[in-house]
Amino acid sequence: MKLYKLMRPEGIPVVSEINGNHTWVLPGVDCPDCHTAYGTFGLAYPMLSTPFLKRSTQKWAAWPLPPIELAKLTQKVCDLGSLPNEWCRPGSHFGPFIGRLTGPVLNFVWYHGWHLFLTKTCADVLAKSNVKLPSLVKPKLSIARKSEAQEMFEFQIEPHGRFSPEVLHEANWWVCPTCGYSKCKTRRKVPTVVLESSIPNHVDIFRLLELDTCIVAKETVIEAIVANKLKGVLFEEIKVASA
Ligand SMILES: [Zn+2]
Repeated sequence: MKLYKLMRPEGIPVVSEINGNHTWVLPGVDCPDCHTAYGTFGLAYPMLSTPFLKRSTQKWAAWPLPPIELAKLTQKVCDLGSLPNEWCRPGSHFGPFIGRLTGPVLNFVWYHGWHLFLTKTCADVLAKSNVKLPSLVKPKLSIARKSEAQEMFEFQIEPHGRFSPEVLHEANWWVCPTCGYSKCKTRRKVPTVVLESSIPNHVDIFRLLELDTCIVAKETVIEAIVANKLKGVLFEEIKVASA
């Protein structure tokens, strides 16, 4: 099976853009053991309502907490959404995206390089092309050009994919046992290689758990993008390994 990394087009003169935030945020973590304060960028579950968390627009909403304090909130979120604990990293976002859409609307629109939105027409085209789509959630967007107003959706892209253990070994991958912070300890550039057995069957677009800003698509998605000339996304093949 071929896999591709999906990317926001850079350098195109006119591109639509979305700015804003998902509704709620899990705070970051400030770890006394690895002395790291961090929060994830990529993980967002727009389908899940977590009103017991702070609104992401509130000041200090994502301020890092000690691991013990954060663990209670994380467990509450995981129980509510039946999410695996490792999917709820510090700084994960929840609830519909609230923001503003500017510029001409292409088929795909990005928030930074890691949250992917699409028009209803584009979602329909993909569904007709037999792409197994992630869940679609309607964001709350104000639109700068009313003439271009289109119904938009966001994918809830879940981190099903894993890096190949061989690559993690090569990267000297290290995970803090207290807070889960992970990093590559080698200075060499490590290739993105997905472990074949982690590729989900029920969905054709997913994230990588070890690199949650990376959105991965199966060949079916790329074929539909090319055949229907869908605009607003670039793609690059990545490797798959059986171990
Ligand atoms: Zn730590």
